[in-house]
Amino acid sequence: MKTVYVDNAATTRLSDAAMKATMPFMQDIYGNPSSLHHIGQEAKEYLEDARERVAKCLGALPSEIYFTSGGSEADNQAILTAAYNGEKKGKKHIISSKFEHHAVLHTLEKLKREGFEITLLDVYSEGIVSAEDLKNAIREDTALVTIMTANNEVGTLQPIKELGEICKEKGVIFHTDAVQAVGHIRVDVKDMNVDMLSVSAHKFHGPKGIGVLYCRKGIILQNLINGGAQERNKRAGTENLPAIMGMAAAMEEANAKLDENAKYISALRDKLIEGVKDIERSRINGDLEKRLPGTVNMCFEGIEGESLLLLLDQAGICASSGSACTSGSLDPSHVLLSMGIPVEVAHGSLRISLSEYNTEEEINHIIETIHKVVVYLRSISPVWEKILKGEVIE
Ligand SMILES: *Cc1c(COP(=O)(O)O)cnc(C)c1O
Repeated sequence: MKTVYVDNAATTRLSDAAMKATMPFMQDIYGNPSSLHHIGQEAKEYLEDARERVAKCLGALPSEIYFTSGGSEADNQAILTAAYNGEKKGKKHIISSKFEHHAVLHTLEKLKREGFEITLLDVYSEGIVSAEDLKNAIREDTALVTIMTANNEVGTLQPIKELGEICKEKGVIFHTDAVQAVGHIRVDVKDMNVDMLSVSAHKFHGPKGIGVLYCRKGIILQNLINGGAQERNKRAGTENLPAIMGMAAAMEEANAKLDENAKYISALRDKLIEGVKDIERSRINGDLEKRLPGTVNMCFEGIEGESLLLLLDQAGICASSGSACTSGSLDPSHVLLSMGIPVEVAHGSLRISLSEYNTEEEINHIIETIHKVVVYLRSISPVWEKILKGEVIE
């Protein structure tokens, strides 16, 4: 049985170009960029070249690029930096949204325990924050606004440029978790009016365990990791040069193919939506226009998401119930609940996230399998009959 991988919002396959870019730095150019000898200095040249290439892809200066271990670290460092810099000026209020990634929400919870006040903006049933709400929420003591560019479970895009403009006007630091966006839609830090932005390579066919924090010139970063003088004293630890080279290659490749891939992937996505939307008591979650090319999130009433995933897996299909971080727990997704989807419906959620490696044939297989599996699971569901009769379910 052929594997159909449609969990690209969780992680992606390394591209051939990224793989090729990584290899020489494992065994040939393996020097430590901090070493003074020639093999170290050669590594250093590649490191700075990668920084320039990444900066160019994001519309930033090389001196504004900090390599991190991934999106989670970049989110943590950005948020703690803005919080502690703000605290020094007596600002202890932070604004975010209800459906951020846990790397953001759990960092905000830590800050709350430290006495910060957190406002989480509504995302409404469309899964999009409102600029008006942000305007109303900003206060004199607001140290940071952090809103994701694209949601990882439902794929909806936030009006980042507009939100950034509001923050700029009010003099508030604006961070965005762009982990799901980079390599999938155009990301330019200047155009988006952001001060800080998080990136993770493994979401766009780069290696795992490597990412970027963009931090605008003029903002003084706070260290998470202390030690050596790497990353201009802001992130200690010997640079993961193989991964950095792989990330730079993957980012350039994704940027070069952005329009072509978006067109191809969104056509597959629309075909998938077309193929399943006639299933009764089902829904597609989140705004249908303002979204990533490849992410679809749907709910089927009367079904457990976990059972759905297991049966899809038996048909070779690797999908997700939402977030990789919540799978393993039976709690429904905080993202779907924040969009006002009832708990019992949120339990039957399915996220399909596509990449340019998926084919039309695979989409047909997915559509056919979903139909079969939904019919089967409903036939053994203790609540389906009640749902059809319109009885209330606890
Ligand atoms: C995957 C993801 C992260 C975490 O990135 P890692 O590199 O896995 O740490 C953060 N935010 C969003 C929106 C993500 O999708």
